[in-house]
Amino acid sequence: MKFQPKASHFINGAYVEDTNGALIDVIYPATGEVIARLHSATPDIVNQALNSTKNAQAEWAALTGTERGRILRRAADIMRERNRELSILETHDTGKPLQETLVADATSGADALEYFGGLAASLTGEHIPLGGGDFVYTIREALGVCVGIGAWNYPTQIACWKGAPALACGNTMVFKPSETTPLSALQVAEILIEAGAPKGVYNVIQGYGDVGASLVTDPRVAKVSLTGSVPTGRKVYAAAADGMKHVTMELGGKSPMIVFDDADIENAVSGAILGNFYSSGQVCSNGTRVFVQKGIKEAFLKRLSERLENAIIGDPLDENVNFGPMVSENQLNIALSYVEKGKAEGARLVYGGTRIEGDGYYMQPTVFADVADDMSIAREEIFGPVMSVLDFDTEQEVLARANDTEFGLAAGVFTNDLTRAHRIVAGFEAGTCYINTYNLAPVEAPFGGSKMSGVGRENSKLAINHFSEMKTVYVSMNDVAAPY
Ligand code: NAD
Repeated sequence: MKFQPKASHFINGAYVEDTNGALIDVIYPATGEVIARLHSATPDIVNQALNSTKNAQAEWAALTGTERGRILRRAADIMRERNRELSILETHDTGKPLQETLVADATSGADALEYFGGLAASLTGEHIPLGGGDFVYTIREALGVCVGIGAWNYPTQIACWKGAPALACGNTMVFKPSETTPLSALQVAEILIEAGAPKGVYNVIQGYGDVGASLVTDPRVAKVSLTGSVPTGRKVYAAAADGMKHVTMELGGKSPMIVFDDADIENAVSGAILGNFYSSGQVCSNGTRVFVQKGIKEAFLKRLSERLENAIIGDPLDENVNFGPMVSENQLNIALSYVEKGKAEGARLVYGGTRIEGDGYYMQPTVFADVADDMSIAREEIFGPVMSVLDFDTEQEVLARANDTEFGLAAGVFTNDLTRAHRIVAGFEAGTCYINTYNLAPVEAPFGGSKMSGVGRENSKLAINHFSEMKTVYVSMNDVAAPY
C-alpha cells in the first residue's frame, strides 16, 4: 500500500502496533483507493501513550525555554525542507489539491512550530510589589499532559497548532488525528524526535471517537484541545468538565460575509470564493452565508459565476488543479443532500449542484441565490462547497441577521466605507473577523470562536494562556500579624 506507515501509532519515539484495534482504511479521495490500513488504539495502546507522555513531562518542563524553543524551531526547519513530500502525503490523506497543500499545510504547521519555538524562552511570570516591602511573584507552569484531538480538514496544521504551544510551555501531548486523515500527524511526531525532542514528548495514537473519549476522561490528562464539530465539542467539553480539565474548543461555524454595494466587486467575489470553495469548502471559518446588498446582487452573482468557470477541477496532484474532491464519500453525500434541501426549500440554484462522475468524491462548486434566513442551507454547517447568497437592504437589518445564529466562529465585511466597516465588526458576534478579505489565519493572530463555535483561542501569544497556569507566591518581608 502506497502510504502505509511502519505502524499505526507513534509512542515514546517509536512506531507501535496493536492489530487488535479496529481497522481504519485510509482512502485517497480522488480515486477511492485504499492507500494505508491502520488500527484504532486499544486500551493498552492508550495506556502506553499516556504513560509515556506523563513520564516525559517533568524532564521536558525542566529544560530551559530556550532549549525547548530550539527543538521546535529545528522541527519547523525540517518540515519546510520536506514540504513537498509532506504536501503529497497530505494531498493523499485529504484530497486537497497539491497547489493548496504546498502552501497551507506543512508550511502553516512549520509557522506554528517556529512562532511558539520563538516564544518559549520568553514565557515568564511577573513580580507584583505590595505595601510594606511584601511582594508576590507568579510562576508560569505547564499544565502537564495535554490531549489534542483533530478534525480531517487540516491534519498537519491542527497537529502543530496544538502541539507547538503545548510543548513550548513545557507540556507533553498525546495527539489523536481524525480517523479520516491519520497519516500526517505521524510525520509530525517523527520530525519532532529528529529535531531533538525527548521520547514521549509528543505521541500520536490513532482511533475513532471512542479513543478520543477515553483520552478525555483519563485522570492523567490535564487539558484537552479539540478541533471538531459542535456536537463532538459538547460531549468532549462535558466529559472534561467532570475532571475539571482545561479545554480549548475549535468547533464549527456558519459564518456571515456581508457585501455592501460600495464594495470592490472583484475583491468581494474573491473573498466569497476563498471563503466557500478553498479546500472544496471544508474550512471551519468559511463565510457560507453571503449577504449581498440588493443594488449589486445581480452583478455579484454574474461575476461569481464567470469566475467559477475558471475553477480547475481534477487530479489534486496536478499543480494546476485548484478544486479537488471532498474528503470522503460520506462528506460528499452530506453536501449533496444539502443541495437537495436547498432546492426543496425554494432557493435558486445559480451554479453547480451536481456530483462529478467518476470514482473520486467530487462535486461542483455550488451557489444558491434568493436564500431565506430560515432555510436549512442558511442555518446548518454543511462543510462542503455550497454557498448561500442572501439579499439585504440596510446595515442595521443585515447585522441582526448575520448574528442570528448559534455559531460565532468568523464573520467578514466588504465595503469601502471605513467607519461602516468598523461599526459592523464591532457588532459581529464572532471570534475572528475580516474587513475586505476572508479566511486568513496567520499564526501571529488569535483564532477561535464565540457562542457555540468554541472556547479559548489558538495561535498568537494568547494560546500560551490556554496551555499554562500561574502559581502565585506571596512573600512576606515582615513579621506575621496574627490576631491572638
Ligand atoms: P468531528 O467532530 O466528527 O470529529 C473531530 C474529532 O473528534 C475526530 O478526531 C473524532 O474522532 C473525535 N471524536 C469524535 N467523537 C468523540 C468523542 N466523543 N470524544 C472525543 N473525541 C471524539 O469533526 P470532523 O468531521 O472530523 O471535522 C469537521 C468539523 O470540524 C466541522 O464542524 C468543522 O467546522 C470543525 N472544524 C473546526 C475548526 C476550528 O478551528 N474551529 C477547524 C477545522 C474543523
